Amino acid sequence: MKRRLISLTIALLLTSAGIYFLNTTQHTTDPTLSIAGSTMGTSYHLKIVSPPNQPLDRVLLEKKIQARLDEIDHKMSTYKTDSDLSRFNRHPINDWAPISAETFAVIAAGQKISEQSAGAFDITVGKLVNLWGFGPTINATAVPDADSIHSLQQQIGYHKLELQAQPPALLKHTEQVYVDLSAIAKGYAVDAIATLLDQHNINNYLVEIGGEIRTRGVKDHNLPWVIGIESPTTNERSVQRLLHLGSAAMATSGDYRNYFEHQGKRFSHTIDPRTGYPIEHKLASVTVIADDCMTADALATALMVLGPEKGLQFAEQQHLAVFMIIKHNDGFIERQSSAFSPYLHR
Ligand code: FAD
Repeated sequence: MKRRLISLTIALLLTSAGIYFLNTTQHTTDPTLSIAGSTMGTSYHLKIVSPPNQPLDRVLLEKKIQARLDEIDHKMSTYKTDSDLSRFNRHPINDWAPISAETFAVIAAGQKISEQSAGAFDITVGKLVNLWGFGPTINATAVPDADSIHSLQQQIGYHKLELQAQPPALLKHTEQVYVDLSAIAKGYAVDAIATLLDQHNINNYLVEIGGEIRTRGVKDHNLPWVIGIESPTTNERSVQRLLHLGSAAMATSGDYRNYFEHQGKRFSHTIDPRTGYPIEHKLASVTVIADDCMTADALATALMVLGPEKGLQFAEQQHLAVFMIIKHNDGFIERQSSAFSPYLHR
């Protein structure tokens, strides 16, 4: 049986009074604006504390936010055939293809994380993602055959993608190089919305897209933003840990929402580009805190590929703030890097 669960928004906001899911209800006395919508095949939620003496035009702000998200979606989606990225993915090999500066910047950042993680993160993994049935062409009903996986795996790799900064352009060396920004562009979009809010002199906000989060300042009544890391269970939604994010970004990758099962075995949407197969270790979810959400997003996927031991080593070496939930017997155990401790809510 094939089962596929699409990642849902996992962000939980918590108050001292308990847990509540983000909602769009607006009370006239509440200084917090809640804005929500859909983008990139998932949902987004914002909490914005209105600056004192500066009433916000909610309708205008909502329009600007949606327009900015649409812009990024139309550039970086593999789900839209007319996106900047899809045009490149169809472009012939060994020929420079012009690309928007913004898409180029995200691709360049992705290539850096590939170098940093020695290929655990790799945006050229797209055709493998599609072969396993997790991309826009969801058609797999079973595990692909080993020869197809091996042959594809041999022809992809971030070294087979060249970047030219001025004017921004890309060149691929093989037909199988198909860039997939699903593990980095949502984080970039969170940063882009944060920048938009900064430009409107809004200093206190939370931005969340598909579970990737960035906060700045404080929420109403000067209270800190408290964020919940979701427990990696498929049948219920509960909170594993609470965090004080401060002015930082957080992203989580997991194997518990987007997977399929075949003959009793679970196949995750996170692909190890070094083998061509979905990850197989016991890491159920990994959360990364970083200054920007694009980096946190990509590193979360890199760590998900590296697994619990190598991932934690990598986190310590690189001084990354990382929290892992690892399957153990019938339950889970937690591991965290030294840099993560200050964020834990006591
Ligand atoms: P993450 O862990 O953040 O990313 C996992 C994804 O990254 C995988 O699904 C795969 O695509 C890719 N990946 C797997 N292994 C690796 C690896 N080793 N290195 C790098 N990348 C890897 N979904 C829809 O259903 N419909 C849409 O219209 C749609 N539009 C989108 C538009 C954009 C611009 C983006 C960025 C994504 C879109 N998505 C869409 C995808 C979706 O919203 C999620 O991004 C996706 O399901 C994975 O996000 P995640 O947080 O669950 O997992």
